[in-house]
Amino acid sequence: MENPQRLRLLAEILPQWYAEHARSLPWRQDRDPYHVWLSEIMLQQTRVEAVKGYYARFLAAVPDIPALARADPELLHKLWEGLGYYARVRNLQKAAQLLLTRHNGRFPGDYAAVRALPGIGDYTAGAICSICFDLPTPAVDGNVLRVVTRLRADGRCVDEPAVKRGLREELAEVYPPRGAGLLTQALMELGATVCGPNGKPDCEHCPAAAFCAARDGDAWANYPLRAKKRERKVERRTVFVFSREGTLALKKRRATGLLAGLWEFPNVPDWLEPQQALELASEWGLHPRGLERQTERTHVFTHVQWEMRCFYIPCAAPGEGFLWADEAALKGQYALPTAFRMFRPGQETNIKGER
Ligand code: SF4
Repeated sequence: MENPQRLRLLAEILPQWYAEHARSLPWRQDRDPYHVWLSEIMLQQTRVEAVKGYYARFLAAVPDIPALARADPELLHKLWEGLGYYARVRNLQKAAQLLLTRHNGRFPGDYAAVRALPGIGDYTAGAICSICFDLPTPAVDGNVLRVVTRLRADGRCVDEPAVKRGLREELAEVYPPRGAGLLTQALMELGATVCGPNGKPDCEHCPAAAFCAARDGDAWANYPLRAKKRERKVERRTVFVFSREGTLALKKRRATGLLAGLWEFPNVPDWLEPQQALELASEWGLHPRGLERQTERTHVFTHVQWEMRCFYIPCAAPGEGFLWADEAALKGQYALPTAFRMFRPGQETNIKGER
């Protein structure tokens, strides 16, 4: 069978399969562009199960585009705390502000206008336009790339922009005149639940098995072909958990760069020895009362890995330039990314993977 025919067949049978097998997910209850947009942005790099709670809390606090445009950025960071890639939520707000000023707070049903919004790439624009406006705009993410390359035994590198663009165009050609959103969601669902990323795909239950070029033997393992990943830079940091009268010392991170604008425990590059850590605390005017304990953890970002040594130091004075937060403020007010949250007394875990 020729490859174009395989794609056409897939597009024909998949909506029916989806109608019978789709998971019921909170963001699939309607086709409101705000709901689709928010869920797609949250789902980038994050598992469905982890997103469900975040999605519900976010919508309860920020129910629509005007509310998002006007929300306090601190609240948005707090609602995103632990999800990682915080630029996503800042871009959500920038896009909401543009939607408010340029489009009366609504999404335009036009691919180019949606694609032009901050934080919205080809994938998200394709998802919003096909699911909400029934436009033939495929949303090609890792799930869809996996299905399509396996289906056609396509050994080209999918990280090449031209290859990805070509696949998107070929898919667009087989989109039906109506029901574009169903096909988009069906493709994503097949890649998420049957032709999955971890280990052997469930070809026995795949609706495309009869015409898939990679179903025999272990051929599926050859697709998709990805570019070699850049090696992560490893950096050492010393983190301080300074405590005083039931509060902990926080600092605000710079407005640009990694974890921009979020809160952090005070930290410095490289690993200090205990005596050096106490001396630094004295220099900062904190009157340290000694070293309570120390611990070491790893935190992995996309391009960098932090090897973190943390000192717990009770202090007698507030020093200068620190914000002292009690338990309630840490819980409800200040967004502390996982890289630091894992050192909070009582919450010490070795969470990996937040960016
Ligand atoms: S038959 Fe197997 S390899 Fe082919 S698309 Fe289906 S699950 Fe993936």
